[in-house]
Amino acid sequence: MKILQTAQEMQSWSREQQRQAKTIGLVPTMGYLHEGHLSLVRLANEQTDVVVVSLFVNPTQFGPNEDLDAYPRDFERDRLACEAAGVEVLFAPQKRDVYAEDHTVYVTEEVLASGLCGKSRPIHFQGVLTVVAKLFHLVLPDVAVFGEKDAQQIRLIRRMVRDLNFPIRIVGGPIVREADGVAMSSRNTNLSSEARNQATVLSRTLEVVATCVEEEGITSVQELRSRADAVLATASLGELDYLEFVKDESLAPFEEELSGDVLVAIAVYFPGARLIDNRVITVPS
Ligand code: AMP
Repeated sequence: MKILQTAQEMQSWSREQQRQAKTIGLVPTMGYLHEGHLSLVRLANEQTDVVVVSLFVNPTQFGPNEDLDAYPRDFERDRLACEAAGVEVLFAPQKRDVYAEDHTVYVTEEVLASGLCGKSRPIHFQGVLTVVAKLFHLVLPDVAVFGEKDAQQIRLIRRMVRDLNFPIRIVGGPIVREADGVAMSSRNTNLSSEARNQATVLSRTLEVVATCVEEEGITSVQELRSRADAVLATASLGELDYLEFVKDESLAPFEEELSGDVLVAIAVYFPGARLIDNRVITVPS
């Protein structure tokens, strides 16, 4: 496995693959890899000839009071995991390799980015789209794989690819969970053991909502919120950021009654980490 750091090294490696008519798969990550990331590497491996994993804790997607400095990092562990997963290139740039000191150009999206995580993290998706656009130009992938764990993010990336005509196919990978239902996340490592135990509240809330809709036929947003509140109350360390019911593709909120494909998305602050999870539910017609 090659480890590349600079923009020029990365682009010339990718151009060489293109000359050899090899297709390139990209899995962008912020490192501290877990089985969720590795499932995306497997998907990329199935669909392309060579796979690049990028490892970059992107500063522009963190707000001033967020966890940029506390974000977990372990390069050696990530290197070994990528090697074992059959990755061809681990692209691990430094900040100066990605951003000119006086950079002034960003990618912004004006509708999908405004709700859900965009409300509490106002600059987050601008940072995400900017770095992903840069990674697309640096790695020149044919396919890029993202997790459904970050539901709003993958929808925004599909929109960017469509609206800016990137010749890249976006593939989504299902959420990988721990045995107790908690969505795997690098940030889980920053939770105390008590908070980690309580972190099941996100998936338990989604499960209760799904049962209410799919088995009891409840479609009232108000009723679903009150059912969810009872679950949320069981996590004393958690503070709800949002629980939203939105249209799966447009992310437009349902105000009163759910219908069709509904993305139920939740974010909860715990001491040490803000956690997110989601589930798509189809309302029986
Ligand atoms: P991150 O390193 O957290 O920025 O995530 C890198 C990629 O892995 C993103 O596309 C995430 O959506 C995806 N990812 C993170 N956690 C999971 C998970 N538990 N299951 C599936 N994909 C995940």
